Amino acid sequence: MQRRDFLKTSLSVAALSSIPASGLAKGSEWVNDQLTDDWPIARLKDSENNSIDFNGDDINRPHDAFWNIDGYIEKKGGEPKSFSEDLDVVIVGGGIAGLSTAYYLRDKKIALLEMDFRLGGNSKGEQYKNSVYSTGAAYLVEPDQTAPLGSLLTELGIWDKARRENSDHTTVLYNNKFTSPFWKGATDKAAADNFNKVFKRLAEIGAEADFDYNGELAKSVDHLNFEQWLTKEFGDVHKHLLEYFQLYGWSSFCGSTDELSAYQYLGFICAETGTLMAYPGGNAYVAHKMAQKIRKDAGDKSLRAGSIVLRVTTEGDSAVILYEDAMGVLKKIRAKQVVMACQKFVAKRLLPQMPKDQADAITMLPYRAYLVGNILTKKNFQSPSYELYCLKGQVPPSPTPMRRGDRSFTDICFGTWAQEEKVDHSVLTLYHGIPYDGARQFLFNPASHDKYKAKYLQDVEPILQTMNLSMNDVHGIRLTRWGHALPLSRAGLIQDGLPQKASESINGIIHFANQDNWMNPCFETAHHCAIEVATKIKG
Ligand SMILES: Cc1cc2nc3c(=O)[nH]c(=O)nc-3n(C[C@H](O)[C@H](O)[C@H](O)COP(=O)(O)OP(=O)(O)OC[C@H]3O[C@@H](n4cnc5c(N)ncnc54)[C@H](O)[C@@H]3O)c2cc1C
Repeated sequence: MQRRDFLKTSLSVAALSSIPASGLAKGSEWVNDQLTDDWPIARLKDSENNSIDFNGDDINRPHDAFWNIDGYIEKKGGEPKSFSEDLDVVIVGGGIAGLSTAYYLRDKKIALLEMDFRLGGNSKGEQYKNSVYSTGAAYLVEPDQTAPLGSLLTELGIWDKARRENSDHTTVLYNNKFTSPFWKGATDKAAADNFNKVFKRLAEIGAEADFDYNGELAKSVDHLNFEQWLTKEFGDVHKHLLEYFQLYGWSSFCGSTDELSAYQYLGFICAETGTLMAYPGGNAYVAHKMAQKIRKDAGDKSLRAGSIVLRVTTEGDSAVILYEDAMGVLKKIRAKQVVMACQKFVAKRLLPQMPKDQADAITMLPYRAYLVGNILTKKNFQSPSYELYCLKGQVPPSPTPMRRGDRSFTDICFGTWAQEEKVDHSVLTLYHGIPYDGARQFLFNPASHDKYKAKYLQDVEPILQTMNLSMNDVHGIRLTRWGHALPLSRAGLIQDGLPQKASESINGIIHFANQDNWMNPCFETAHHCAIEVATKIKG
């Protein structure tokens, strides 16, 4: 399994569907008046068109708690003597993996504990007046409707609510002009053959290769980086394609083509030769729909935002979960099973009984930081396509902390495209995956919000001009910071078996489900891991 949710996957959602699904009923329209405090999409006040600080990760509480967990527990009055509840399953983390796990286990006595005060993890969004846009994960690759992701979207009644775009329409901003179709060589017509050859091969691999993590493709190319694979496969590749691939690596993986696994990269880029699906608010829309369904079937208390898990241990044949609730009170739950749907580097701190070799494997897993800017305009305009990579005609070198590069963003998603721009304020979402280690420290510098804001505004100006807009048309800018958002799909990790080791269940009671089970940052992987764990728990 990989980014594209193939029919040939061995996983079956049907096996999990002991609860009658909502069938093919049409999903409700966007419910802008029903957004409560903890839904993945935040409703902004009319005056909040400009951020004065980053939204996204709230670092203060987890840093206080995880710096010295035992000290924190002591400070909060110590571990409670008795259990507040006995449950079947506790899920730690409310991103796509945690919500998907809860969704498939919603016929059990469950509690999902999410430390942030909003559900959704990296799949969050904002609603400003009637504009709904993503502040993190934005789109899906259209799956087969009967594959696991297709079944989920169908059950949720939202299969036909997404706006779709086919790769025939892939447009780039080349020297500040919208240029399409990119894959047919629109930026250099004389070299169209080179573009066609590469695209055809990627589409072929996407359709035919076995993307299973234990399959042939993983075995043969995971140890190569994508740049090496390109050279091996094609010899010369046009420089516009190389530039596109470099920017795509930064945006999708926070990594450069000379460090990313060819296998992982192919899993993404080959899927993009198909059709993209975007919902209002991006993937937060799907998170929102899952959360609604879980609460309806498993009760309001099944999803608990603002609940930070501090320790998970096993005692006999059950688990003990210690957490601080949204009111700051320490509570202890006994559960038959636990699913760690948080990132592995956090899980390692919460699990004192984790075997040493597993903890060591986690230490070797790299993560990278991400910055997203949303430009709210005063107008409503028709966008040329859903997403645009910004090409300058030169392949940018792979950045390092010492040489950070000069691109403040790699690509633009038209944030309100999925609403067909039937909004008062069209939104441009600017992506800046940061492709080197240690970038978090720059983002957490107190001056960084204003610095990045100024840079974004400066660099977006020529793009606005291309769209016949000016800086006077900017209504505001909101910045989102993700500290360790993406697990880095570094070449060789899968073949070395590190993610597999890091994700091994402990004592048959503690399981792992997160995109970092496979160091593969997308909805499909988070969802896939959740199905695997839910299937195991259901027996
Ligand atoms: C800017 C950006 C753009 C992206 N774009 C796309 C896209 O377009 N398409 C796509 O498919 N993917 C995209 N992704 C990847 C995205 O990360 C995945 O799609 C998916 O949302 C990951 O879900 P997850 O549940 O595995 O992890 P996460 O979203 O990281 O969820 C983990 C959760 O665990 C919680 N947690 C951690 N520790 C604790 C604790 N101690 N107690 C309680 N809770 C805890 C965290 O707060 C978090 O909510 C993007 C990511 C980013 C950052």
